[in-house]
Amino acid sequence: MAIQAFAIPSSLSWSNYTITSHRIQDPHDGQLQDCVTNFEWFLTPNLQAVQQGNQFRMNASMRVEIKPNNCRVWSGANKTAALLSHEQFHYDVPFAIARVVASKLNSLRAPSISELRRKIAEITLLHFTTRNELIQKRYDIDTRHSTNARYQRIWKNRMTTVLADPQANQIGGFWL
Ligand SMILES: [Zn+2]
Repeated sequence: MAIQAFAIPSSLSWSNYTITSHRIQDPHDGQLQDCVTNFEWFLTPNLQAVQQGNQFRMNASMRVEIKPNNCRVWSGANKTAALLSHEQFHYDVPFAIARVVASKLNSLRAPSISELRRKIAEITLLHFTTRNELIQKRYDIDTRHSTNARYQRIWKNRMTTVLADPQANQIGGFWL
């Protein structure tokens, strides 16, 4: 058994979005958008450390979970399949990252539980904040928030390749 990553649900639908009466400021570039997708991650259940000799590790039955969080769509937006597909990428990134995080957590060892917690915080910050934001920003720049069809296709194809490979640790030259 090993720590594994899950996205719940794995595919977003419009029912995951709250309708707003105004356009929404993108968290990454501040532009007003029809639709914004956010996520939250969980290590569940709460940390259960296991001692092995003089080292501590995480219990292998723990999970890294990704869930939609505060996803919003403007009431005037055209809720097309193409827009939802653009948004799905924003949600697939943290799932692909969660698989890398799960792999790192599986091999994580620390001399104390407090050090184990410190390392978990360091890993999750690096992947879910720093690396996630780099990819999300680049994706929206290249695709012009879904309006550049060519780059939209390129990035979606990259994601299809990543999702098919459980060991994937990068996308489009960016580390997951
Ligand atoms: Zn976007």
